[in-house]
Amino acid sequence: MVFETLPDTTENLFTIAQRQFDRAADLLDLPAGLRGILRVPQRELSVNFPVKLDDGTTRMFTGYRVQHNLSRGPTKGGIRYHPSLTLDEVRALAMWMSWKCAVTHLPYGGAKGGVIVDPKQFSQHEIERLTRRYASEISLVIGPDRDIPAPDVNTNPQIMAWIMDTISMHQGYTVPAIVTGKPLTIGGSEGRHEATARGLVYILIEAVAHAGMNLAQTRVAIQGFGNAGASIARMLHALGATIVAVSDSQGGVYHPRGLDPAAVALHKEATGSVVDYPEGDQISNATLIELDCDILIPAALAQSINSARAPHVRARIVAEAANGPTTPEADEILFDQGVMVVPDILAGAGGVTVSYFEWVQGLQSFFWSEREVNAQLERVMQRSFHQVVQMAQQHQISLRTAAGALAVRRVADAVATRGIYP
Ligand code: GLU
Repeated sequence: MVFETLPDTTENLFTIAQRQFDRAADLLDLPAGLRGILRVPQRELSVNFPVKLDDGTTRMFTGYRVQHNLSRGPTKGGIRYHPSLTLDEVRALAMWMSWKCAVTHLPYGGAKGGVIVDPKQFSQHEIERLTRRYASEISLVIGPDRDIPAPDVNTNPQIMAWIMDTISMHQGYTVPAIVTGKPLTIGGSEGRHEATARGLVYILIEAVAHAGMNLAQTRVAIQGFGNAGASIARMLHALGATIVAVSDSQGGVYHPRGLDPAAVALHKEATGSVVDYPEGDQISNATLIELDCDILIPAALAQSINSARAPHVRARIVAEAANGPTTPEADEILFDQGVMVVPDILAGAGGVTVSYFEWVQGLQSFFWSEREVNAQLERVMQRSFHQVVQMAQQHQISLRTAAGALAVRRVADAVATRGIYP
């Protein structure tokens, strides 16, 4: 078994988000007043709450909900359960959600939430009670026309169902539009579960064509084999790409002639990890990033591509499914090396885009087929990609800075148009 070490630079994620914002703001020559407004979250709620455990004892937990900016509509963003979650991480993720929604033209501001917890240490009943109590605590600030949570790291449709049920019990009637990423049985959308992966694949099809490559001839390495990573592997494999490596938090597996993602998924289901998959060599997550491949997809946690690793990246395209996987220093190195980095706020926007479709369908009580959902998703991803590329070419900047600038400009325009109250 290969054990992973923590990334060697772990800069505060909110500082990173602010540095990226500053770069976009500089490019736009954003006035100091607007800069000050957008550089910090608008609202932050911290909650400490008790949960009864199965053994009868009570444990305290801490959770957050941060709303970065409310100018373009209700706020939107996932909820993550992670033992090392911090308020600054949630702040960064909320800010990134504002840019993600703006770059795809969704009528939302950004938000994010989470609870400091390792869900693997608790039973389903305990996670249900924790979720219901957390939902109750943040009910002060969420609502179908205020702030709409969704799944993120270690949360899923069942957890969304418990949140929806809890808020509905408070109200005395069913409020489906309070969350997205719900199970289909209670108003979820076709295609939502795989939307992050599908959105990234639509983006990659455009990016590969833009780079003059042929997707069916590419070799792809994917870091992270959760919902997004595993689905991306399966979809790209179906399109003829060779998946040379995949990994999870325990390590990775590599085969130069390609892995069968369905077989790897079965192995992970049986053993809990991809590492011991027999038809390939074991590699570390650090090695995966440096592999000889055409496309690298970070689909795990933040800061996996740092300044120490970036010079060794050999892929021509990096498409970010995770939020914040590349540090600003690594970004510069990759840009200088001519690597096309398709940033998280664009490449990872498929999930929130179909969340938006789910919310719209729920509000209208009128539901679309999966084909309709995917076609609309493809349209949004293609349009967003080409707008970002155009901005990048016009200013000779990276796709990250271009996407950031495009998004910041849209949010800043909304703030300026509405004016400052009172
Ligand atoms: N958690 C996902 C993200 O980071 C989806 C958020 C949503 O659907 O609201 O984009």
